[in-house]
Amino acid sequence: MDAKPPTTADILGNDGVISRLLPGFETRPQQMEMASRVEAALAENGLLAVEAATGTGKSLAYLVPLALYALRNDRPVVISSSTHVLQDQLIGKDIPLVQRALAEYGIELAAAEAKGMGAYACQRDLEMAALGTLALDVEGTESVKRAHEWMKHSMETHADGSRSDAPRVSDEVWNEIRVDRDTCTREECSFFETCFFFQARRKMQAARMIVANHSLVFADLAVKEEGGRVLPTYSVLVIDEAHKMEEAATSFLGGEISAGSLRFTLKRLYGARGGGAMARILDQIPSLKLPAKEKRALPDYIEKQVIPEIVNLQFTVDDAFLNFSRAWHDIADRFPALGNAPASVRGGRSDSGSVRDNVRGARALRLTSAVYRHPAFLGAETAGHHLAASMDLVGERLRTAIQRLSAAATLFEQRDLAMLRSAQEKLTILASAMRSFFDPLAGAEDTVKWFQPEAPRALADVRLAAAPLSIAPHLEQRLFKKLDAAILASATLAVGRSFEYFTSRAGLAGELASRRTELLLDSPFDLASNVFAGFPVDLPAPEDPAFLEEAARFLWRVLKVTKGRTLVLFNSWGWLRRTHAILEPHASKLGFRLLVQGELSKRDLIREFREDVSSVLLATSGYREGIDVPGESLTSLVLHRLPFGSPDEPVMEARLEAIERAGGDPFRDFSVPAAAIAFKQAFGRLIRRNSDYGVFFCLDNRVIRKKFGSHFLATLPKCQRISGSSTEVLREARAFLKRFEIDS
Ligand code: SF4
Repeated sequence: MDAKPPTTADILGNDGVISRLLPGFETRPQQMEMASRVEAALAENGLLAVEAATGTGKSLAYLVPLALYALRNDRPVVISSSTHVLQDQLIGKDIPLVQRALAEYGIELAAAEAKGMGAYACQRDLEMAALGTLALDVEGTESVKRAHEWMKHSMETHADGSRSDAPRVSDEVWNEIRVDRDTCTREECSFFETCFFFQARRKMQAARMIVANHSLVFADLAVKEEGGRVLPTYSVLVIDEAHKMEEAATSFLGGEISAGSLRFTLKRLYGARGGGAMARILDQIPSLKLPAKEKRALPDYIEKQVIPEIVNLQFTVDDAFLNFSRAWHDIADRFPALGNAPASVRGGRSDSGSVRDNVRGARALRLTSAVYRHPAFLGAETAGHHLAASMDLVGERLRTAIQRLSAAATLFEQRDLAMLRSAQEKLTILASAMRSFFDPLAGAEDTVKWFQPEAPRALADVRLAAAPLSIAPHLEQRLFKKLDAAILASATLAVGRSFEYFTSRAGLAGELASRRTELLLDSPFDLASNVFAGFPVDLPAPEDPAFLEEAARFLWRVLKVTKGRTLVLFNSWGWLRRTHAILEPHASKLGFRLLVQGELSKRDLIREFREDVSSVLLATSGYREGIDVPGESLTSLVLHRLPFGSPDEPVMEARLEAIERAGGDPFRDFSVPAAAIAFKQAFGRLIRRNSDYGVFFCLDNRVIRKKFGSHFLATLPKCQRISGSSTEVLREARAFLKRFEIDS
């Protein structure tokens, strides 16, 4: 680095390099404040939680100080986001801008994007597939040929070899030719030097700025303790979109056992039609360099001791999962009261309309003490133990076969040997996980376990799932405590002005509280003048049977005032569908299109909504985020009900109970703050740039009538707010819009 390295202000400040490189770029006070707090956190080993509203320019506010820190200390920093939109923006726009700014000082900043293994093609497997030695179980000869050509071209041109660059192939074919942890032989592979994945790894090792996503960060955390690594060693982490961190960590720090994944592992070992690794190994034994006696004995061992046990295990899997489905059916279906959320949440205050949507159409069954004691559970437990014993036996037989084969394998058999090794390890781990799942004492204090049906039909396979009751201790001990500094940024972290809910759930409230700092930046936009928020108090309460019709009637009146141009967010598919059925026959009378989630992909639907200015989009909670529609198309935002999560979802159910056991109030301490943050996320869709204006309506009058409503209102910025009769609210909204529409 230069003798006089630049400062953050040199790059980002007024008259800084970026303002010269980017015509029209203006330094915003909020952005500079955030950058200086990020600098302070990096210098002081801090853990900074920062809420920065849309328009702050938060990515440059952390990228510039972070780049200078990484270069000064010659250590990599990792930036994690949860959406492709932000990742693309970081990789394609913001980081190149920072690189160009640094280049003005003669400084080079190496950056890389981290992708999961499965994103890259495996050159060895693609070579084998093209030669016909992979014996693909799927139709794919033509697409394999095209992919093979692409691979050769990518090797010549040093392209990255990832799927986003590859010709179209089906998921089935890609699964056979992608990099697979189970079969990769690493240094022993003759393609190791040119391997796309390992080249990307090497590039990542040399980079000082790595863009990852939450899944990779938590997958890295999950495998680190067993000596694995997904990301290079880093000591500074930025978690952008930090409000998604708890969900990502819960999923990666938990685990599941599914019939599908077990069947896939076993089918790769020995397929129904005689294919699979064991059959290929049997074919190869005559040509292996083995003593003559072993050449005769080994096929005998594989045919009589290994293959029959694999086949047995395939039957045992079917039988066990049938038993699990029966247990789920007998308990969850016939006794739906078992394993429910705490009474204080359910006592008329829960928002149970969304239960079935949240569990993909079928109810999960959490293993509570009542479920463990239920007679119908015994059959599942016995089947689980039987399956675990069977997995152990096959694991043992595979271990012996691997030992006997190890010395003699050639390049292509190595793939099969690696597969055997991985299957053996997997079966041993799953057998132990299966025993823990059925043991009421295992993880009783800190783990949530549940049966999750794969589909909403009778006797569908059920998955056995587990997740940490709280991720806070994991994040505290396994992640943040080990980092020199971390920045947790989002547009929605605080409830009102308080970060308490977020920091306690993120593991920043205990031992690490002294390293923690917080920053809440208000919007740089003039929301006080440009936003109207209306709360009609005369609509029926959401639990009132008349609510649906009355809310739809009010919505209709809103659309007349706003001339369409509205995003309507529902808590559940059920509410969306029923409202759509009421509105649909009348929509054409007003001359705007009614777009409904599910009609098109999210990307296409948002494009239609943006381009067809007067259109109205009806969507569920998935559209609270990742929808960026500046301008007139999203002039109006309607929230159908307060966005309470479903207390019947197993992890949430267990977390609510834990709060109650600890003497807290689950509704006050969890449900309300979580919903208030979701409320703020929804509201955040309305104003995306300085020139935007818009109207917001919440049809759930609990926000005004109930005491807890104040927590929701406290998340809103200063803006014009009206609560009153529907007619009053609409009259004021019309007057507000008129002001802008006359001005324009
Ligand atoms: S090193 Fe692993 S991923 Fe790379 S080509 Fe070889 S087997 Fe495939």
